[in-house]
Amino acid sequence: KKILITGASGFIGKRVARLFLSKGYFVTGMGTSKTHLFSRKSQRFEWVSADTAIEGKWQDHVAGSDIIINLAGRNIFRYWTKKYKQAIYDSRILTTRNIVNAIEPGKTHTLLTTSAVGIYGDRKENVLTEKTEPGRGFLSDVCKDWEKEGLKARQKGVRVSVMRLGVVLGNEGALSLMTPAFKLFAGGPLGDGRQWFSWIHIKDLEKAVEFIVENSDIEGIFNFTGPTPVRQKQFAKSLGRVLHRPAVIPAPAFMVKVVMGQLGKAFLQSQRAVPKHLADVGYPFLFANVDTALNDIFGK
Ligand code: NDP
Repeated sequence: KKILITGASGFIGKRVARLFLSKGYFVTGMGTSKTHLFSRKSQRFEWVSADTAIEGKWQDHVAGSDIIINLAGRNIFRYWTKKYKQAIYDSRILTTRNIVNAIEPGKTHTLLTTSAVGIYGDRKENVLTEKTEPGRGFLSDVCKDWEKEGLKARQKGVRVSVMRLGVVLGNEGALSLMTPAFKLFAGGPLGDGRQWFSWIHIKDLEKAVEFIVENSDIEGIFNFTGPTPVRQKQFAKSLGRVLHRPAVIPAPAFMVKVVMGQLGKAFLQSQRAVPKHLADVGYPFLFANVDTALNDIFGK
């Protein structure tokens, strides 16, 4: 079986690529990096260096793939200038459009494409399932368009699933941005810390991807979040505990916005998402508790 993974040089893509290689699949990875570590390590891994927001030869690999996992997108953890916001948008929406355009009906049977719980906007105490209406704001708009482009593959007879990711906890990604402050005894809640924080352990993300890919009767929109979201201040406390540092220095909302600009606003939003669809299809979570998840990541 041939599987194509866009964003295979990223935090999540590398892990997902390794998982499918270990299961015997032939994996084609894509990203803008010139080379990929796995190319030297596995004969079943092929790296295609391409800006997938631009149409090109890389689309031939789409046509030849049985399964596509679409994770490409410029990293959002940067300062958002107007130009960068356009890159955030294009690297996701145009990439997904180019993939769907290149899909050959009858060849590709499964597309797993990415979105985020950011689609719900700022929802305070509301419990958010896949049936909840999307919200407002830049990230929400990006996610809506991103999902819409991916779902168009259904018209080509493809089984499409959308992963609405919460913050992915692992040795890279958001945690690697948060831990340095904690290690310097300067960590703590963001804003008043009451906002809900939806997270998922990277191992659950990998296993849930495998679960969806390998169960051909499953499809649709999925919140990819652990079963128990926590308030941001509880998350900060758990992180402080596992790092043996107090989580007492709050970053006031105005400071978060000054330092991080519009991205800061996104950090202050409340998203209490629950994985209703994954639970309905019987996915068995490995990590339901944030303390256990963080202990696992930091090797405790
Ligand atoms: P990374 O930033 O680590 O990786 C992004 C990947 O996308 C890289 O492989 C990068 O390739 C590739 N990419 C970016 N722009 C382009 C482009 N124009 N053309 C081709 N490839 C491109 O992100 P993550 O692995 O953490 O996340 C993967 C996806 O999941 C992203 O879309 C992200 O928005 C989404 N997500 C992640 C969350 C998280 O907590 N990690 C939470 C919610 C959503 P290269 O570096 O080689 O250019």
